[in-house]
Amino acid sequence: MKKTAFLSLEKAKEIAQVIPTPFHIYDEAGIRANARALKAAFSWNKGFREYFAVKATPNPYILQILHEEGCGCDCATYTELLLAEAVGITGHDVMFSSNVTPREDLLKAYEMGAYINLDDATYVDFLEQVVDKVPETVCLRYNPGGSFSLGNTIMDMPRDAKYGMTEDQMAGAILKLMKLGTKHFGIHAFLASNTTTNEYYPELSANLFRLAVRLKNATGAHFSFINLSGGIGVDYRPEQPCCDIAAIGEGVRLRFEKYMVPNGLGDVAIFTELGRYMLAPYGHLVSTVLHQKHIYREYIGLDACAADLMRPAMYGAYHHITVLGKEDAILDHVYDVTGGLCENNDKFAIERSLPEIHIGDILVIHDTGAHGHSMGYNYNGKLRSAEVLLRPDGSFKLIRRAETPKDYFATFDGTEFTFNC
Ligand SMILES: *Cc1c(COP(=O)(O)O)cnc(C)c1O
Repeated sequence: MKKTAFLSLEKAKEIAQVIPTPFHIYDEAGIRANARALKAAFSWNKGFREYFAVKATPNPYILQILHEEGCGCDCATYTELLLAEAVGITGHDVMFSSNVTPREDLLKAYEMGAYINLDDATYVDFLEQVVDKVPETVCLRYNPGGSFSLGNTIMDMPRDAKYGMTEDQMAGAILKLMKLGTKHFGIHAFLASNTTTNEYYPELSANLFRLAVRLKNATGAHFSFINLSGGIGVDYRPEQPCCDIAAIGEGVRLRFEKYMVPNGLGDVAIFTELGRYMLAPYGHLVSTVLHQKHIYREYIGLDACAADLMRPAMYGAYHHITVLGKEDAILDHVYDVTGGLCENNDKFAIERSLPEIHIGDILVIHDTGAHGHSMGYNYNGKLRSAEVLLRPDGSFKLIRRAETPKDYFATFDGTEFTFNC
């Protein structure tokens, strides 16, 4: 599908007068409409709930918008739990899906009354040591091993993944937890990331539904939810197909009717923990061209760098680029679009066909709303950028200021050095 920025050149200039580039900007109207479409796609399931994966976009304003749309939070760490708590999201509005879990993180999740998703069978003893009384409801993370395929395509290799436990271990953990007083169970699995086929969730759900039936028969446990976790992807490339959430919801419903309903599991809730799908398309990284150089290739140098968006450098990921004001110009130039890190992989685009670019042009890097600002880092003393919310009425709000050198040096507090900032 053709990619269009949700930001015009005029609007970008207006914002940049107040909040200098680079900044991440989020489209509130898009976020809300998408969250509603997800909810509608699963409205056939009475207990359906999306727990937004906080790691994708850990900003309280974003969590609040999603909470208003009925979403909870999926947290993996103590700090992410604090973020949810700050927005007033606690209790069963929080899913705690962690691994290699520190004691204080587990305790915080317990104290908040979150659903606790155990990554391993050994965590039953760990949980018992940390908390006064095991929760009434506990979730267990499943790892089926082997490879996970859709049709003839291998999507991922669960056997190489550090997450989850085997089916036998799940049965053992359930029996142990039931003895300790747990009454209800959830099942969780995350088997493939950034899938752009409509078949991932339906296939995953079929696996988990059949597993629930087997575990129910083996242990007599009561299951209250199946958590399909994250993994629905977005079309980063314009020529890529994009997911049809209504078709995905319907695909899961058919498996639910087939496997769950006849086995007395028709009242089980479906949970999701989507991150990318909820936010990626509704974020742009907005950046200004600082320099242009002509050596063996043509280079465009931006005021943003990989510290603002790591995915291209880390995964070679494609992110579409729009030059604002030149949306309809011919793509008759080929550029490497780079940031200023002392790392040659700091390139947002390599040999990309774009319209002719000049110094001062404003570029939008698309699909940065998830795993964008959140993966930011401070290499080379680069400071993390601001985050801005574009409201449905066209107004904008700074929802996180840019870092300053003072922030960068803050952890040297109490040392004998003085920084002139
Ligand atoms: C990262 C993660 C998610 C979200 O994944 P997306 O690909 O952003 O949808 C959900 N659940 C868990 C446990 C995760 O680690």
